[in-house]
Amino acid sequence: MATVLIYAEHKEGKVKKVTHELISEANRAGAESVVFVAGQGLDAVNKELGEMGAKRVIAAQGDAVKFYSNEAYGKLFVDAVKSTNPSVILIPATAQGKDLAPRIAALLGVGLASDCTKIQIDGEKLKATRPIYAGKAVADVEFVGPKPYMATVRPNALSVGAASPGASAAVTALSLDTGALKSTVKDVVRGATAKLDVTEANIVVSGGRAMKNSENFAILEKLSEVLPNSAVGASRAAVDAGYRPHSYQVGQTGKVVSPTLYIACGISGAIQHLAGMRTSKIIVAINKDPEAPIFQVADYGIVGDLFEVVPLLTEEFKKALG
Ligand SMILES: Cc1cc2nc3c(=O)[nH]c(=O)nc-3n(C[C@H](O)[C@H](O)[C@H](O)COP(=O)(O)OP(=O)(O)OC[C@H]3O[C@@H](n4cnc5c(N)ncnc54)[C@H](O)[C@@H]3O)c2cc1C
Repeated sequence: MATVLIYAEHKEGKVKKVTHELISEANRAGAESVVFVAGQGLDAVNKELGEMGAKRVIAAQGDAVKFYSNEAYGKLFVDAVKSTNPSVILIPATAQGKDLAPRIAALLGVGLASDCTKIQIDGEKLKATRPIYAGKAVADVEFVGPKPYMATVRPNALSVGAASPGASAAVTALSLDTGALKSTVKDVVRGATAKLDVTEANIVVSGGRAMKNSENFAILEKLSEVLPNSAVGASRAAVDAGYRPHSYQVGQTGKVVSPTLYIACGISGAIQHLAGMRTSKIIVAINKDPEAPIFQVADYGIVGDLFEVVPLLTEEFKKALG
């Protein structure tokens, strides 16, 4: 049976949903899903990984891996590759995964398909689909040459399987030779970030230049509060104007999101913005200009003033969602 090695991302003792998506995909393909995880106090995380369907967990615990560092985590991951000999390696295309995956690929001397929206594991083979040219085209990638075949996969691109409460994975401990490290992360200071990152949200409500100032984003926050598992995002014009921090930015030079629902409020639909959100399942655009390019990618368009439409939507969602 082919082995798929998956990088688990977790935060505050909770495994990120994208990890579950990758485990589910490996299990759907009939492969053995082995998960690599690093950090401190991993008992709850290991339990959750078992319930998500991981067959085996390779866990690196302790002070040396308390904080993410691509040097330490990369070294450990390569050790996990050596001990499991996987055919396929899957890493979330999150900020952390995008930092880590190229390093691992370079250390292993293998190719990497990044930011994939679809993958197909067939025995020991991997095929992947990834957007290129800012999402204007998609490339189908087939791996040739020596294994392992590596891909980073966009959060929300794959479906999650049902969790199995009570299921557990066999856990193997992995330790880090800190003597060989050239750097260590001593502390991580949290920036002013939203409750839920846009890349993980199921619904994203984004505001553009039309928001006019940071205070007006409150109407988007109110809409987001009504919608379960949602987060507020912003266009680069809104970020550059100082309405929201850069961590909110969706697009080519911001974050790439693939939520079930994306609501673009007062965003024109520049190609660089579309690069970050056009793979959303349903796109709703609110813009007072009927010619705005965003309407070309929108499934539903509302031509109107967002300052009137958004509060009305909030009220209607409140009624509908109780
Ligand atoms: C190298 C590069 C990288 C870039 N990366 C990114 C990126 O990552 N993300 C990104 O977003 N952009 C990025 N950009 C910028 C991008 O080209 C656009 O300039 C930007 O997306 C425009 O933001 P916007 O749609 O908010 O503003 P605008 O283009 O100014 O659009 C504002 C829209 O709001 C509408 N509007 C105005 N008032 C109202 C109202 N009251 N109600 C409803 N609608 C209203 C207008 O009709 C208009 O369509 C990048 C550009 C470059 C060159």
